Amino acid sequence: MLKGYRSLLFYAASALLPVTADCVSADCGGSAAWRSLQHVQNAIGATNCSWDGDAVAFTNSRQTVRFYHSRRKADINGVTVWLNAPPYGSAPKGDWRMAGIDLDLLHLAVLPETEGPKKSLHVMLDPGHGGSDNGARSLDPPVNEKDLTLELSRKIGAALKDLGFKVSYTRTDDSTLTLDERSRLARKKKADLFISVHANHAGNKSAQGIETYVLPPSGYPGTAEGSRARGWQIGNRNDYHNTLLGFSIHRELTVLTDAIDRGLKRQSFFVLRETSCPAVLLEFGFLSNTEETLRMLDPDWQIQSAAAVAAGISSYAKKVDILDQSVALKRAKDAEANERWRKYLAERAAPQEAPEQTNSASRQDAELAAESEPETLTMVVSNPKPMPSFAVVPEPSPAKMHITAPPPVSANIIKTTPAELPPRLADDELSSSPLPKVTIITGTNTAPVQIDALLDFYETGKAQNP
Ligand SMILES: [Zn+2]
Repeated sequence: MLKGYRSLLFYAASALLPVTADCVSADCGGSAAWRSLQHVQNAIGATNCSWDGDAVAFTNSRQTVRFYHSRRKADINGVTVWLNAPPYGSAPKGDWRMAGIDLDLLHLAVLPETEGPKKSLHVMLDPGHGGSDNGARSLDPPVNEKDLTLELSRKIGAALKDLGFKVSYTRTDDSTLTLDERSRLARKKKADLFISVHANHAGNKSAQGIETYVLPPSGYPGTAEGSRARGWQIGNRNDYHNTLLGFSIHRELTVLTDAIDRGLKRQSFFVLRETSCPAVLLEFGFLSNTEETLRMLDPDWQIQSAAAVAAGISSYAKKVDILDQSVALKRAKDAEANERWRKYLAERAAPQEAPEQTNSASRQDAELAAESEPETLTMVVSNPKPMPSFAVVPEPSPAKMHITAPPPVSANIIKTTPAELPPRLADDELSSSPLPKVTIITGTNTAPVQIDALLDFYETGKAQNP
């Protein structure tokens, strides 16, 4: 009995770990859902998978996605995207894993290419800093960030209007605005999108390139060195939309301008977490780099960059309806499976008091939940194929070339009795060997650039506290 109760407690604890992509990691007890290579390949529809000893590349006829071992920087069709957690493990050994949240965001928000009619959207542009707050400064040539962001925002606004978008601004002159006032303006004017415009600064004078920031999902740290994970923020209700918006703009900026791609990154900046609509913060270049400063002052570069931002927003506007449907479908499925599982756990918690008939019904519910919820179970049962073949480069010795098929998963995983059901987490339970305990850690960022000043600006709360 004791053993039984212990396993009940285990199940009860696992039930507190929601399986939706909206709540993971620290918020949910420090455990993230991890996805296997096979699962990722199926989810993103890759026809080939290769491993070079460090990176896994998934490809199909149109897309290439590359993940690096223990690094958050990933390559999505040639665009740099920082993951929320670094993948780990080895593909040939069969223990490669990536965070479920990253797979969900890629699968639903980043990789889909289908476009529909362009949705009419109201875009609020937020020229960073202003008035008594100069922002970052370049001495030679002399430039204040507040002036550059205002000029860039005006040009982005003009490009957006040309494409038929409604545009408004948090400021159109050199006025001082708190961060709270900026977010409140977006809520008050019912903006559909919020675009905060900035220029970067770093101690390293050679640092250059474009960065696009969106809010990290709840429980995950930002990509800046030493960032800490936060709990759920208002902006987290838009995790998928933030990602689609950020990726769409960042891709156009890297394709349409010759800027260095520093990546789609994540940071819990005030205007990203407190704005209720999808929001991004753009860092167009480094005022600490003379060459880049001169380029940012060039009206032609400004027009080109503004057109790229507008093109990114236009791409978002053609995909957002489809994303709405995908996210609604996923949340409904997650909620339904969670409900079935909760019901089953509640009945198992008091088995003596429940009539036999109910137990039988609950078993059916549990089996249904087990079949429908963890996508991994569905995947394995519906597609019990061996692992994809790997292009292993460099070629290891024959002794080490043995690439194992995935752990044999027989139908008994599905057909176990309720007492033997695995905890409903990731597909890790499908692995025959115990997996390393991986926690979301901070400090995985290796970016050389210090953005202390920017972090300080957004993190201190000086502007938003009354
Ligand atoms: Zn700034």
